[in-house]
Amino acid sequence: MNFLKFLGTGSAFNVKRGCTSAYFEMGTELFVIDAGEDVFKKLVLEDLFNKKTRVNFFITHIHGDHAGSLSTAIYYLYYKVFNMDKSKICVYFPHEDLREYLRMSGTTEEFYTYYINRWDEIRPDGTDINFEYNFIEAKHVQGMNSYAITIEIPKQKLIYYSGDNSEFNFTVKNVDMYNEIYNEVTFIEKATSHMYYKKMLELTKDFSKEQKSKIILMHLEDDEEAIKMMKENGFTIAE
Ligand SMILES: [Zn+2]
Ligand SMILES: [Zn+2]
Repeated sequence: MNFLKFLGTGSAFNVKRGCTSAYFEMGTELFVIDAGEDVFKKLVLEDLFNKKTRVNFFITHIHGDHAGSLSTAIYYLYYKVFNMDKSKICVYFPHEDLREYLRMSGTTEEFYTYYINRWDEIRPDGTDINFEYNFIEAKHVQGMNSYAITIEIPKQKLIYYSGDNSEFNFTVKNVDMYNEIYNEVTFIEKATSHMYYKKMLELTKDFSKEQKSKIILMHLEDDEEAIKMMKENGFTIAE
């Protein structure tokens, strides 16, 4: 059983699979990674806010398919779920850009709490949340701050989530370090801001079956043939 569940597994233009977004629940809190254009709707329809004491959003970068419905989700939580208590709505991003993006769309910090630093330094209330996270700089679109995220549940799991990152270091050593590697892939050679599948196949050609199967592909284009081929090659497909 993989740790993350998916609300969508598609690339920006894949309306069938929807924007790539993942979540997990811990204690009574919900953790969502990325909130692209169609994600707010799914969060509500799947009733994921129900009985939660806090909702946390980790954002990898500010492309529409990763942050496009974040403002609406924040407003909804503020007015409809948490009775105007902004401490229950947390947004994590290691740069000022996202705060500014939200402010420009009318979502000021009156409505949510922004975490630019690590929470163990700035989140004072003791909760039953038992994991650590880190943002790692990703290589995506020039001039845009983009990050991959690692999540560590002590003595259990280390997870890597690429966001949009054209360069994951697919060495055996690096892959062995993680239990689950959620990585985007593109089937279009021209899409150089993403990880091209042929490059991925080349880098992982000496990997064992087990090493390959912990690489979970996401951010998929509408090309089911190519997805099937990657599955036959031993990768796991996010569903
Ligand atoms: Zn994307
Ligand atoms: Zn992107």
